[in-house]
Amino acid sequence: MLSGYLGDTVGSTPLIKIKSLSKLTGCEIYGKAEFLNPGGSVKDRAALGMIRGFEKRGELKPGGTIVEGTAGNTGIGLATLAAERGYRVKIVAPNNQTEEKYTLLRALGCELTLVPPVPFRDENHFYHQAKRLAEATPGAVWANQFENPDNGNFHFETTGPEIWAQSQEKVDIFCMSVGTGGTISGVSRYLKSKNENIEVYAVDPDGSGIASYLERSEFVATGSSITEGIGIMRLTENFKSARVDFPLRVPDQDMIDMCHHLARNDGLVLGSSAALNLAAALKIGLKHKNSNKVIVTILCDHGSRYFTKLFNQDFLKDKNLIPRAIPG
Ligand code: PMP
Repeated sequence: MLSGYLGDTVGSTPLIKIKSLSKLTGCEIYGKAEFLNPGGSVKDRAALGMIRGFEKRGELKPGGTIVEGTAGNTGIGLATLAAERGYRVKIVAPNNQTEEKYTLLRALGCELTLVPPVPFRDENHFYHQAKRLAEATPGAVWANQFENPDNGNFHFETTGPEIWAQSQEKVDIFCMSVGTGGTISGVSRYLKSKNENIEVYAVDPDGSGIASYLERSEFVATGSSITEGIGIMRLTENFKSARVDFPLRVPDQDMIDMCHHLARNDGLVLGSSAALNLAAALKIGLKHKNSNKVIVTILCDHGSRYFTKLFNQDFLKDKNLIPRAIPG
């Protein structure tokens, strides 16, 4: 078979049964292995969806530039796919993400601007800086993953149908954290279109306002989190269309316990949002103990992207996050 475009390898990721958590709960807990995408994260799907949208509308031509504000993974996805299509990529990112992601972005030839993390209302937030950079760059498009519907719609067209088919139409519960809301929007819309009774949980770290928004329509957050790429304090266009039944708050301690548990017990070295998602899946599974319910979540990226934080004892000690064993 003669084929060979990197862009064609996005998606169709395996759905992996998480043995240790399934055993602990008497449910079937599965993770969609998005870390196996060519750029190494779930954001490759958003990147491909948005690039195709710009191409279809004639807004992006070979030699053109894609600009984006991103915690890292969307930039890595865009740069991974841009190379073979002949686009340049300029990224504005907050300066508190892992060095591993910056190294990847630079290796892929991105022009990378790091800015201090500030609240969204501040004009220096990476989102606003990326918008201004796109306006100032001739022949550039601003990907705008938070508001761009091609992000969530690509998950409706691919991630949702894959989960439905791979679970043999048996998925009962889907849980996912929220960055732009693209994944939870597309997947929840698709799954509910197949079976209205499928329950959807939005998983929220400390320092994010999604849970309070779902409970009482206002973005209020307490505490903070070392997770990356998730947690927001505003209603994005992509999250607006998500079909969510319940919020579920998960503190960092549970995330770090899960992160180390999965590495040792399941051979899965995962990033912080994937660990948070599976910590949520464990809580949901224990609520439905021995029901055999099929619970699906997203393994957003790989732990090697976070070695300097999640698997660095000095960093963890400094954050007062010492991994504890999960009771079995
Ligand atoms: N996990 C990671 C590691 C991410 O980078 C992102 C995206 N920022 C998400 C989860 C959330 O995905 P989405 O933007 O589709 O809500």
